[in-house]
Amino acid sequence: KEISTRENNVAKIKVVVRKRPLNKKEISRKEDDIVTVDENALMVHEPKLKVDLTAYVEKHEFCFDAVLDEHVTNDEVYRVTVEPIIPIIFQRTKATCFAYGQTGSGKTFTMQPLPLRAAQDLIRFLHQPVYHSQRFKLWLSYFEIYGGKLFDLLSDRKKLCMREDGRQQICIVGLQEFEVLDVQVVKEYIERGNASRSTGSTGANEESSRSHAILQLAIKKHPEIKESKRNNDGNESKSGKVVGKISFIDLAGSERGADTTDNDRQTRIEGAEINKSLLALKECIRALDNDQIHIPFRGSKLTEVLRDSFVGNSRTVMISCISPNAGSCEHTLNTLRYADRVK
Ligand code: ADP
Ligand code: MG
Repeated sequence: KEISTRENNVAKIKVVVRKRPLNKKEISRKEDDIVTVDENALMVHEPKLKVDLTAYVEKHEFCFDAVLDEHVTNDEVYRVTVEPIIPIIFQRTKATCFAYGQTGSGKTFTMQPLPLRAAQDLIRFLHQPVYHSQRFKLWLSYFEIYGGKLFDLLSDRKKLCMREDGRQQICIVGLQEFEVLDVQVVKEYIERGNASRSTGSTGANEESSRSHAILQLAIKKHPEIKESKRNNDGNESKSGKVVGKISFIDLAGSERGADTTDNDRQTRIEGAEINKSLLALKECIRALDNDQIHIPFRGSKLTEVLRDSFVGNSRTVMISCISPNAGSCEHTLNTLRYADRVK
């Protein structure tokens, strides 16, 4: 059942850090860039104000599987993170790629192009005779977890619920899935889904930083005609059995998990939910890394939804996004410490 590691020497868990450039606002405020990158290591120079107001600097050093500086393009990010996983999706791998970090650190900038590139490569594989003859097809779905609830981003934010079947498989009842034949269509689905992301009562885009967006690309084996008549309304109905899949997750802003003392009750509830899910995620990845038999999925909606991606032949890529400016120092250190613990 298991694919031998000889066939896929792609690390089970990979932790990558990406630093974005200083933005115009930060430059106009003459903020310092406090993050320096040296190969796979990274240093944060934390400014400290002493009582006599002479600033001195405290250094924090971290090491990761890869550290990408502000000159690295999205194409390179793809090559380092997702590209190596693509071939093994066809060998029953379930992969997950997360973007973690504070709001404004570059999560969405980093994540948006990845499913497009992945779809392009997956489609190229599908055209190979060996997969073509096995009736493999590519399917896409896109949903959001907001305040602990699931919403379909490709069907007017229809509220979804999760169900566990007898074989401990999680299925999201009613989640729309679309067969994908070319990359242009993927682009359209992503744009449609993004437009549907939560805007909260204020209508501000800012609200999307309180939700996790999950885009899944699944390779499924298309059933024979007679088989497809037996529709059992689960995720594995008409479209066929999942061979492998990859999920792209644009996580809620990590600083939102600290909103638990906010004056607004709704904000507090959402903050608590985000905090819970990011902690649960860290625990699950650590359990995976230690080859623990018991993975604590039940800690949050996010980890429950991802349950089938954490068992068996799984791969996890965590992209931790950081802002370089002095003003973000505390959040940057928090993000790096989180990534360090996942590693
Ligand atoms: P987040 O999703 O984490 O809140 P965004 O992805 O929206 O952050 O990024 C915030 C801003 O910074 C956006 O305007 C984005 O275009 C810009 N940005 C982020 N990362 C980079 C980068 N590596 N290079 C250039 N601009 C970036
Ligand atoms: Mg974002």
